[in-house]
Amino acid sequence: MIANGVWEALDRLGIPYRRTMSLKPLSTFRIGGTAELVLLPDSGEQLADTVRLLRQAEVRMEILGNGSNVLFGDGLLEGALILTKGMDACRVEGTQVIAEAGVSLATLANTAAQASLTGLEFVRGIPGTVGGALTMNAGAYGGAMSDVTVKGLALNARTGKRMELTDHSYGYRESVYLSNPDLICLRGEFSLREGDRGVIDDTMRSFATQRKEKQPLEYPSAGSYFKRPAGHFAGKLIEDCGLKGHTVGGAQISRKHAGFIINLGDATADDVLRLEEFVRGEVFRRFGVTLEREVRLIR
Ligand SMILES: Cc1cc2nc3c(=O)[nH]c(=O)nc-3n(C[C@H](O)[C@H](O)[C@H](O)COP(=O)(O)OP(=O)(O)OC[C@H]3O[C@@H](n4cnc5c(N)ncnc54)[C@H](O)[C@@H]3O)c2cc1C
Repeated sequence: MIANGVWEALDRLGIPYRRTMSLKPLSTFRIGGTAELVLLPDSGEQLADTVRLLRQAEVRMEILGNGSNVLFGDGLLEGALILTKGMDACRVEGTQVIAEAGVSLATLANTAAQASLTGLEFVRGIPGTVGGALTMNAGAYGGAMSDVTVKGLALNARTGKRMELTDHSYGYRESVYLSNPDLICLRGEFSLREGDRGVIDDTMRSFATQRKEKQPLEYPSAGSYFKRPAGHFAGKLIEDCGLKGHTVGGAQISRKHAGFIINLGDATADDVLRLEEFVRGEVFRRFGVTLEREVRLIR
């Protein structure tokens, strides 16, 4: 239960917010119950004010980019969900692109392409934001955020201090933001190389075509549901267990790409988690490999 003083302070500080909002439109999975409070700061300063207020009032907080790698629970999400999408400034400086956490990866890739800078083509088609991509060390087609990040600006939600990061402790779907949940990404700086605009555009188009051919983009999902286990591909292991099309409630192992769990329309988080458990059990029984969820569960 959020104290009355919090609502009054939000109004006083002019921080945009919504009370009791459905979580479904906030994730690409289109699954979830209700958020108690959704906050939409439009700058790093407003985000810092928001975090300070919530910390003082001892309100639980979660950060959300585009919600393309999360599964929300079916019930009430207590506390505050802070959306970064309003923090959307993006600029080019020499061969670097500097982008706030809420910038979409599409905008990031297009900004680089328009300046004939190469190195970020791989993010075109990943439906996330800069903050989410830095957190997850998003990657595709041989590229990853760890290849291009030179600097970041983070806010420590516990101390209220900002800090510049030159080391993001990146690993496969690992970063300093996952190992230290107090840190909120405010900005990323990416070092690129001069390239040929035509080649950059062709590369991005080719990635988009491959995604359309291989991924079930016609259904809501959170992308690859499981991490890639060392020496294997999760999708191949699941397919080899004969689980393509396996369905629990409204959640299904995609027939097009077994690494994706798709929402057939009315899936609940409970359906997805039961399907996850079943798949993990079958893959372990057959291959002795334990699948680990890549998607972040927020409930
Ligand atoms: C169709 C589809 C295809 C995909 N393809 C790929 C792919 O090729 N490669 C890949 O790596 N991923 C892929 N994904 C997954 C997802 O798009 C990426 O992980 C993306 O980087 C997540 O960004 P987001 O802004 O949506 O993060 P969210 O889903 O909003 O958040 C993900 C995590 O990051 C945290 N977070 C978000 N913003 C911040 C911030 N500013 N500071 C601190 N923490 C933050 C959240 O709390 C959460 O734990 C795909 C997803 C879909 C639906």
